[in-house]
Amino acid sequence: MPTTPTPPHQAAETARMAAIAARLKAVYPHAVCALEWGGQHGGESELLLRESWKLLVMGRLSAQCTDARVNIVCRELFERFPTVYAMADAAVEDIEAIVRPCGLYRTKARNIKDACHILAEDYGGTVPDDMDTLLTLPGVGRKIANLLLGDIYKKGGVVTDTHCIRICGRLGFYPESLKDPLKVERILTPLIPEAEQSDFCHRIVQFGRDTCTARSPSCGECPLGDLCAHATKNN
Ligand code: SF4
Repeated sequence: MPTTPTPPHQAAETARMAAIAARLKAVYPHAVCALEWGGQHGGESELLLRESWKLLVMGRLSAQCTDARVNIVCRELFERFPTVYAMADAAVEDIEAIVRPCGLYRTKARNIKDACHILAEDYGGTVPDDMDTLLTLPGVGRKIANLLLGDIYKKGGVVTDTHCIRICGRLGFYPESLKDPLKVERILTPLIPEAEQSDFCHRIVQFGRDTCTARSPSCGECPLGDLCAHATKNN
């Protein structure tokens, strides 16, 4: 069967994205997850599976909260409840007391307990490996599901967090005013090879912290300047 040719604009955007991804890789050779869940530097699949519930918990806590705060809070949380089974059996009030600094703590604590209970009962203590099943877990949306699929199972997944949405808008892959995570995911997913999506998203977070910050992007020192719509527009 003949294949449908890629439209010229799409091909150009894919090539531009590949150049951007290559430069980010040169700056950040190690794509490290900002959440310190135990497998943030990668590792054997056995370790990633065993600790996968922690990434789910941290992903849930990170909604409207900084990764740095989630890391601090989770040191205490995982010390108190070191396994998915312990978290599933915990009193929700005890989880609430620890996760309170992350905001929305009542909903988050309930989601964490309920999700861990399902993982313990139905999935042998690890997270499932497909989007549809992940989305049935309490508190898990596409952002967390993509994070889990990418980091635990090495499947594709564009994690449209605040850094990704802001930076890829500035780069000109869509209007800077677009903030809808699902629309952004649909635009970016075809532009990045599946095997590279997870690492790209981790690097974008690192880049968003030290160069293309929300308040004042350092365009003058940016390695992506000649590939960036925002920089071209402001020159
Ligand atoms: S040139 Fe400026 S706006 Fe564009 S990616 Fe770099 S820091 Fe961000």
